[in-house]
Amino acid sequence: MAECLFCRMVSGEIAPDVVYEDEDLLAFRDVNPQAPTHVLVIPKRHVATLNDMEIADAELIGRMHLAARHIAREEGIAERGYRTVINCNAEAGQSVFHVHLHLLGGRPMGWPPG
Ligand code: AMP
Repeated sequence: MAECLFCRMVSGEIAPDVVYEDEDLLAFRDVNPQAPTHVLVIPKRHVATLNDMEIADAELIGRMHLAARHIAREEGIAERGYRTVINCNAEAGQSVFHVHLHLLGGRPMGWPPG
């Protein structure tokens, strides 16, 4: 997926502010942060949306969340609280079509989200 922004980060063509990486995942700071901590956790393999993930991806989806938990601890927000969000398709506001989990924290948050 040469034209995918997040695939270009995985390949190293674009250098994000990386906070976590393993064999299958990359996590980096959001360029337009909506909270003091705003990190995106992505699978290195291109998957456009949560709708496109399969049962075989269940472990990967779980590991995205565990990576977010790890980063939250590293950021010092785990005990205060944080939010994880995956926007899927237009009505949820997905703008980059490479699935990503938002980790948001460091400030109080309202509910429901907008
Ligand atoms: P979403 O709207 O759920 O698809 O989220 C996409 C996120 O990617 C937004 O929060 C953007 O601010 C973020 N984003 C877009 N371009 C970049 C970039 N070059 N580096 C880091 N984050 C980005």
